[in-house]
Amino acid sequence: MTPHAILPDKETMYQAFVNKDASFEGLFVMGVRTTGIFCRPTCPARKPKPENVEFFPRSGDALAAGYRACKRCRPMEAKGSIPSWLRPLLAQVDAAPTRRWTSQDIRDAGLDPARVRRWFQAEHGMTFLAYLRSRRLGEAFSRVKDGSPILEAAAAADFDSVSGFCEALRKRSGASPSKAKERLPLKVQQVSSPLGPIMVAGDDQAVYLVEFWDRRMLETQFTTLEKRLNAVFFPGKSKASQQMADELDAYFQGETTTFETPIKFPGTEHQQAVWQTLLSVPSGETWTYGQLANSIGKPAAVRSVARAVGENRFAIVIPCHRIVGSDGNLTGYGGGLWRKRHLLEFERQKNFSS
Ligand SMILES: [Zn+2]
Repeated sequence: MTPHAILPDKETMYQAFVNKDASFEGLFVMGVRTTGIFCRPTCPARKPKPENVEFFPRSGDALAAGYRACKRCRPMEAKGSIPSWLRPLLAQVDAAPTRRWTSQDIRDAGLDPARVRRWFQAEHGMTFLAYLRSRRLGEAFSRVKDGSPILEAAAAADFDSVSGFCEALRKRSGASPSKAKERLPLKVQQVSSPLGPIMVAGDDQAVYLVEFWDRRMLETQFTTLEKRLNAVFFPGKSKASQQMADELDAYFQGETTTFETPIKFPGTEHQQAVWQTLLSVPSGETWTYGQLANSIGKPAAVRSVARAVGENRFAIVIPCHRIVGSDGNLTGYGGGLWRKRHLLEFERQKNFSS
Protein backbone atom coordinates (compact mmCIF):
# COMPACT_ATOMS: atom_id res chain seq x y z
CA MET A 1 0.00 0.00 0.00
CA THR A 2 2.15 2.83 -1.21
CA PRO A 3 1.00 6.42 -1.56
CA HIS A 4 3.56 6.81 -4.31
CA ALA A 5 1.95 4.38 -6.72
CA ILE A 6 1.92 5.77 -10.23
CA LEU A 7 -1.13 7.89 -10.92
CA PRO A 8 -2.05 10.09 -13.86
CA ASP A 9 -1.31 13.75 -13.15
CA LYS A 10 -3.71 15.60 -10.93
CA GLU A 11 -5.20 17.78 -13.65
CA THR A 12 -6.04 14.74 -15.74
CA MET A 13 -7.70 13.03 -12.79
CA TYR A 14 -9.60 16.10 -11.77
CA GLN A 15 -10.81 16.52 -15.35
CA ALA A 16 -11.83 12.85 -15.41
CA PHE A 17 -13.93 13.47 -12.32
CA VAL A 18 -15.53 16.58 -13.82
CA ASN A 19 -16.37 14.59 -16.96
CA LYS A 20 -17.49 11.50 -14.98
CA ASP A 21 -15.14 9.57 -17.23
CA ALA A 22 -15.79 5.87 -16.65
CA SER A 23 -12.53 4.87 -18.29
CA PHE A 24 -10.78 6.05 -15.13
CA GLU A 25 -12.75 3.70 -12.90
CA GLY A 26 -10.39 1.61 -10.81
CA LEU A 27 -7.42 3.86 -11.57
CA PHE A 28 -7.94 6.28 -8.73
CA VAL A 29 -10.27 7.52 -6.05
CA MET A 30 -10.55 11.15 -5.06
CA GLY A 31 -10.65 12.47 -1.51
CA VAL A 32 -12.33 15.79 -0.75
CA ARG A 33 -10.62 17.48 2.18
CA THR A 34 -13.51 19.74 3.08
CA THR A 35 -15.94 16.85 3.55
CA GLY A 36 -13.57 14.01 4.45
CA ILE A 37 -15.24 11.82 1.86
CA PHE A 38 -13.71 9.96 -1.06
CA CYS A 39 -15.37 9.13 -4.37
CA ARG A 40 -14.89 7.10 -7.48
CA PRO A 41 -14.23 9.02 -10.75
CA THR A 42 -17.84 8.77 -11.93
CA CYS A 43 -19.54 9.95 -8.73
CA PRO A 44 -22.58 12.13 -9.50
CA ALA A 45 -21.66 14.45 -6.61
CA ARG A 46 -21.00 18.12 -7.34
CA LYS A 47 -17.40 18.90 -8.24
CA PRO A 48 -15.30 20.24 -5.38
CA LYS A 49 -12.66 22.94 -5.86
CA PRO A 50 -9.46 21.45 -7.28
CA GLU A 51 -7.39 22.75 -4.36
CA ASN A 52 -9.52 20.74 -1.97
CA VAL A 53 -8.99 17.33 -3.51
CA GLU A 54 -6.33 14.67 -3.45
CA PHE A 55 -6.02 11.39 -5.25
CA PHE A 56 -5.26 7.84 -4.19
CA PRO A 57 -4.56 4.74 -6.24
CA ARG A 58 -6.91 2.61 -4.16
CA SER A 59 -9.76 2.92 -1.72
CA GLY A 60 -7.57 1.41 0.97
CA ASP A 61 -5.13 4.30 0.63
CA ALA A 62 -7.92 6.85 0.99
CA LEU A 63 -9.27 5.04 4.05
CA ALA A 64 -5.81 4.90 5.58
CA ALA A 65 -5.55 8.65 5.07
CA GLY A 66 -8.72 9.08 7.08
CA TYR A 67 -11.38 9.49 4.40
CA ARG A 68 -14.78 7.89 4.52
CA ALA A 69 -16.37 6.22 1.52
CA CYS A 70 -19.02 8.27 -0.29
CA LYS A 71 -22.50 6.87 0.23
CA ARG A 72 -23.60 7.80 -3.28
CA CYS A 73 -20.90 6.26 -5.45
CA ARG A 74 -19.72 3.60 -2.99
CA PRO A 75 -16.05 3.57 -4.00
CA MET A 76 -15.28 0.51 -1.87
CA GLU A 77 -17.30 -1.48 -4.33
CA ALA A 78 -15.40 -1.41 -7.58
CA LYS A 79 -18.24 -1.80 -10.07
CA GLY A 80 -19.60 -5.31 -10.24
CA SER A 81 -16.51 -6.72 -8.65
CA ILE A 82 -17.96 -7.70 -5.30
CA PRO A 83 -18.39 -11.43 -5.29
CA SER A 84 -21.82 -12.58 -4.22
CA TRP A 85 -20.43 -14.60 -1.31
CA LEU A 86 -19.11 -11.38 0.22
CA ARG A 87 -22.17 -9.17 -0.20
CA PRO A 88 -24.07 -10.23 2.93
CA LEU A 89 -21.01 -9.55 5.08
CA LEU A 90 -20.46 -6.08 3.60
CA ALA A 91 -24.13 -5.28 4.09
CA GLN A 92 -23.74 -6.13 7.77
CA VAL A 93 -20.70 -3.88 8.01
CA ASP A 94 -22.57 -1.03 6.34
CA ALA A 95 -25.44 -1.43 8.78
CA ALA A 96 -23.13 -1.21 11.80
CA PRO A 97 -19.79 0.36 10.83
CA THR A 98 -18.52 0.65 14.39
CA ARG A 99 -19.02 -2.99 15.30
CA ARG A 100 -15.86 -4.89 16.21
CA TRP A 101 -15.47 -8.12 14.31
CA THR A 102 -13.42 -11.14 15.23
CA SER A 103 -12.43 -14.04 13.01
CA GLN A 104 -15.06 -16.07 14.84
CA ASP A 105 -17.74 -13.53 13.89
CA ILE A 106 -16.76 -13.95 10.26
CA ARG A 107 -16.96 -17.72 10.58
CA ASP A 108 -20.35 -17.35 12.27
CA ALA A 109 -21.46 -15.38 9.23
CA GLY A 110 -20.61 -18.49 7.22
CA LEU A 111 -17.40 -17.22 5.65
CA ASP A 112 -13.77 -18.26 5.73
CA PRO A 113 -11.77 -15.44 7.36
CA ALA A 114 -8.73 -16.23 5.21
CA ARG A 115 -10.76 -15.90 2.03
CA VAL A 116 -12.19 -12.57 3.20
CA ARG A 117 -8.73 -11.35 4.12
CA ARG A 118 -7.30 -12.33 0.74
CA TRP A 119 -10.06 -10.54 -1.13
CA PHE A 120 -9.59 -7.33 0.82
CA GLN A 121 -5.84 -7.54 0.49
CA ALA A 122 -6.05 -7.94 -3.27
CA GLU A 123 -8.86 -5.45 -3.79
CA HIS A 124 -8.04 -2.74 -1.28
CA GLY A 125 -4.47 -3.40 -0.16
CA MET A 126 -5.53 -4.02 3.43
CA THR A 127 -6.98 -6.84 5.48
CA PHE A 128 -10.67 -6.95 6.34
CA LEU A 129 -9.94 -6.12 9.96
CA ALA A 130 -7.74 -3.19 8.93
CA TYR A 131 -10.58 -2.00 6.71
CA LEU A 132 -13.00 -2.11 9.63
CA ARG A 133 -10.52 -0.31 11.86
CA SER A 134 -10.07 2.41 9.28
CA ARG A 135 -13.81 2.84 9.07
CA ARG A 136 -14.17 3.04 12.84
CA LEU A 137 -11.39 5.57 13.15
CA GLY A 138 -12.72 7.46 10.18
CA GLU A 139 -15.92 7.94 12.09
CA ALA A 140 -14.04 9.34 15.05
CA PHE A 141 -11.36 11.51 13.50
CA SER A 142 -11.26 14.47 11.25
CA ARG A 143 -9.34 14.32 8.07
CA VAL A 144 -6.74 16.97 8.47
CA LYS A 145 -4.47 16.94 5.52
CA ASP A 146 -1.02 18.39 5.26
CA GLY A 147 0.02 21.49 3.43
CA SER A 148 -3.45 22.44 2.32
CA PRO A 149 -4.74 25.99 2.35
CA ILE A 150 -7.73 24.81 4.33
CA LEU A 151 -5.52 23.59 7.13
CA GLU A 152 -6.89 26.14 9.52
CA ALA A 153 -10.47 25.22 8.84
CA ALA A 154 -9.55 21.59 9.29
CA ALA A 155 -7.71 22.36 12.51
CA ALA A 156 -10.82 24.05 13.81
CA ALA A 157 -12.70 20.84 13.15
CA ASP A 158 -10.12 18.83 15.11
CA PHE A 159 -11.63 19.42 18.45
CA ASP A 160 -14.85 17.67 17.66
CA SER A 161 -13.27 14.57 16.22
CA VAL A 162 -10.77 14.15 19.03
CA SER A 163 -13.60 14.73 21.42
CA GLY A 164 -15.57 11.94 19.76
CA PHE A 165 -12.60 9.64 20.08
CA CYS A 166 -12.09 10.43 23.77
CA GLU A 167 -15.76 10.02 24.44
CA ALA A 168 -15.73 6.61 22.79
CA LEU A 169 -12.76 5.58 24.94
CA ARG A 170 -14.45 6.76 28.11
CA LYS A 171 -17.68 5.00 27.23
CA ARG A 172 -15.82 1.78 26.65
CA SER A 173 -13.89 1.95 29.89
CA GLY A 174 -17.00 3.03 31.76
CA ALA A 175 -15.39 6.04 33.38
CA SER A 176 -18.23 8.12 34.72
CA PRO A 177 -17.53 11.82 35.32
CA SER A 178 -17.56 11.32 39.09
CA LYS A 179 -15.27 8.31 38.99
CA ALA A 180 -13.06 10.16 36.56
CA LYS A 181 -12.01 12.50 39.32
CA GLU A 182 -9.91 9.82 40.94
CA ARG A 183 -8.11 9.15 37.70
CA LEU A 184 -5.22 10.81 35.93
CA PRO A 185 -6.75 13.16 33.36
CA LEU A 186 -4.78 13.34 30.13
CA LYS A 187 -5.58 15.77 27.36
CA VAL A 188 -5.51 14.57 23.79
CA GLN A 189 -4.78 16.85 20.87
CA GLN A 190 -4.32 16.23 17.20
CA VAL A 191 -1.28 17.67 15.47
CA SER A 192 -1.00 18.03 11.70
CA SER A 193 2.11 16.68 10.04
CA PRO A 194 3.28 16.02 6.49
CA LEU A 195 2.75 12.33 7.26
CA GLY A 196 -0.81 12.76 8.43
CA PRO A 197 -2.41 13.63 11.76
CA ILE A 198 -0.58 12.70 14.96
CA MET A 199 -2.27 12.22 18.34
CA VAL A 200 -0.49 13.66 21.36
CA ALA A 201 -1.67 12.87 24.88
CA GLY A 202 -0.31 14.52 28.01
CA ASP A 203 -0.82 16.74 31.01
CA ASP A 204 1.02 19.90 32.00
CA GLN A 205 4.06 17.98 33.23
CA ALA A 206 4.70 15.40 30.53
CA VAL A 207 3.59 13.72 27.33
CA TYR A 208 2.55 10.05 27.45
CA LEU A 209 1.78 9.23 23.86
CA VAL A 210 2.65 10.42 20.35
CA GLU A 211 1.10 8.27 17.64
CA PHE A 212 -0.01 8.45 14.05
CA TRP A 213 -3.78 8.59 14.15
CA ASP A 214 -4.28 5.57 11.90
CA ARG A 215 -1.79 3.33 13.63
CA ARG A 216 -3.08 -0.19 13.98
CA MET A 217 -2.38 -0.28 17.70
CA LEU A 218 -3.68 3.18 18.57
CA GLU A 219 -6.69 2.01 20.55
CA THR A 220 -4.58 -0.62 22.31
CA GLN A 221 -2.02 2.01 23.26
CA PHE A 222 -4.67 4.22 24.81
CA THR A 223 -6.13 1.24 26.67
CA THR A 224 -2.70 0.32 28.02
CA LEU A 225 -2.27 3.82 29.42
CA GLU A 226 -5.74 3.67 30.87
CA LYS A 227 -4.84 0.51 32.76
CA ARG A 228 -1.29 1.37 33.76
CA LEU A 229 -1.94 4.91 34.95
CA ASN A 230 -5.62 4.80 35.70
CA ALA A 231 -5.76 7.52 33.05
CA VAL A 232 -8.83 9.05 31.51
CA PHE A 233 -8.71 10.98 28.25
CA PHE A 234 -10.22 14.32 27.39
CA PRO A 235 -9.88 16.39 24.26
CA GLY A 236 -7.75 19.50 24.66
CA LYS A 237 -4.29 20.95 24.93
CA SER A 238 -1.91 20.75 27.86
CA LYS A 239 1.34 22.61 28.41
CA ALA A 240 3.48 19.57 27.62
CA SER A 241 1.46 18.39 24.66
CA GLN A 242 1.55 21.85 23.11
CA GLN A 243 5.32 21.96 23.58
CA MET A 244 5.51 18.57 21.87
CA ALA A 245 3.31 19.81 19.03
CA ASP A 246 5.69 22.73 18.48
CA GLU A 247 8.69 20.42 18.56
CA LEU A 248 7.13 18.03 16.07
CA ASP A 249 6.53 20.99 13.82
CA ALA A 250 10.19 22.05 14.16
CA TYR A 251 11.22 18.46 13.40
CA PHE A 252 9.23 18.37 10.18
CA GLN A 253 10.55 21.81 9.23
CA GLY A 254 14.03 20.28 9.53
CA GLU A 255 14.94 22.60 12.38
CA THR A 256 15.57 19.99 15.05
CA THR A 257 16.09 16.28 15.54
CA THR A 258 15.83 16.17 19.32
CA PHE A 259 12.86 16.57 21.59
CA GLU A 260 13.05 18.37 24.93
CA THR A 261 9.45 17.94 26.05
CA PRO A 262 9.39 15.69 29.14
CA ILE A 263 7.99 12.27 28.28
CA LYS A 264 6.85 9.42 30.50
CA PHE A 265 6.74 5.86 29.30
CA PRO A 266 5.41 3.51 31.94
CA GLY A 267 6.05 -0.11 31.05
CA THR A 268 7.87 -3.24 32.12
CA GLU A 269 11.53 -2.98 33.05
CA HIS A 270 12.41 -4.62 29.76
CA GLN A 271 10.27 -2.23 27.69
CA GLN A 272 11.69 0.77 29.46
CA ALA A 273 15.27 -0.40 28.91
CA VAL A 274 14.55 -0.80 25.19
CA TRP A 275 12.77 2.57 24.85
CA GLN A 276 15.45 4.39 26.83
CA THR A 277 18.16 2.94 24.59
CA LEU A 278 16.20 3.79 21.45
CA LEU A 279 16.49 7.43 22.46
CA SER A 280 20.26 7.21 21.93
CA VAL A 281 20.05 6.12 18.26
CA PRO A 282 21.11 9.28 16.41
CA SER A 283 19.11 10.83 13.62
CA GLY A 284 20.40 9.87 10.19
CA GLU A 285 21.54 6.44 11.43
CA THR A 286 19.93 3.04 11.68
CA TRP A 287 20.58 0.20 14.11
CA THR A 288 19.64 -3.44 13.76
CA TYR A 289 17.50 -5.23 16.33
CA GLY A 290 20.67 -7.18 17.22
CA GLN A 291 22.64 -4.02 17.94
CA LEU A 292 19.82 -2.78 20.12
CA ALA A 293 19.66 -6.10 22.02
CA ASN A 294 23.43 -5.95 22.54
CA SER A 295 23.36 -2.45 23.89
CA ILE A 296 20.84 -3.32 26.58
CA GLY A 297 23.02 -6.29 27.50
CA LYS A 298 20.64 -8.95 26.21
CA PRO A 299 22.18 -10.14 22.95
CA ALA A 300 20.02 -13.27 22.92
CA ALA A 301 16.75 -11.42 23.41
CA VAL A 302 16.38 -10.03 19.89
CA ARG A 303 12.81 -11.17 19.58
CA SER A 304 11.54 -9.64 22.82
CA VAL A 305 13.54 -6.51 22.03
CA ALA A 306 11.76 -6.31 18.68
CA ARG A 307 8.43 -6.72 20.43
CA ALA A 308 9.20 -3.87 22.83
CA VAL A 309 10.21 -1.71 19.85
CA GLY A 310 6.80 -2.38 18.35
CA GLU A 311 5.11 -1.41 21.60
CA ASN A 312 6.69 2.03 21.65
CA ARG A 313 4.08 4.73 22.27
CA PHE A 314 6.13 7.63 20.92
CA ALA A 315 6.28 7.77 17.14
CA ILE A 316 9.28 9.80 15.91
CA VAL A 317 10.16 10.99 19.46
CA ILE A 318 11.42 7.56 20.58
CA PRO A 319 12.86 6.78 17.18
CA CYS A 320 11.87 3.14 16.66
CA HIS A 321 11.81 3.93 12.94
CA ARG A 322 15.63 3.87 13.07
CA ILE A 323 15.68 0.14 13.82
CA VAL A 324 15.99 -2.11 10.77
CA GLY A 325 16.52 -5.79 10.01
CA SER A 326 20.03 -7.26 10.04
CA ASP A 327 19.98 -7.37 6.23
CA GLY A 328 19.07 -3.69 6.06
CA ASN A 329 15.43 -4.45 5.35
CA LEU A 330 13.04 -1.95 6.88
CA THR A 331 10.99 -4.82 8.38
CA GLY A 332 7.87 -3.46 10.08
CA TYR A 333 6.63 -0.16 11.42
CA GLY A 334 3.49 0.49 13.44
CA GLY A 335 2.82 3.70 11.55
CA GLY A 336 3.15 1.97 8.17
CA LEU A 337 6.29 1.20 6.18
CA TRP A 338 5.83 4.16 3.87
CA ARG A 339 6.18 6.47 6.87
CA LYS A 340 9.30 4.66 8.10
CA ARG A 341 10.84 4.99 4.65
CA HIS A 342 9.95 8.67 4.53
CA LEU A 343 11.31 9.40 8.02
CA LEU A 344 14.62 7.63 7.39
CA GLU A 345 15.08 9.33 4.03
CA PHE A 346 14.21 12.70 5.55
CA GLU A 347 16.71 12.25 8.38
CA ARG A 348 19.43 10.99 6.05
CA GLN A 349 19.11 14.01 3.78
CA LYS A 350 19.08 16.36 6.72
CA ASN A 351 22.27 14.81 8.03
CA PHE A 352 24.02 15.44 4.74
CA SER A 353 22.91 19.02 4.58
CA SER A 354 23.70 19.97 8.16
ZN1 LIG B 1 -19.18 9.87 -4.37
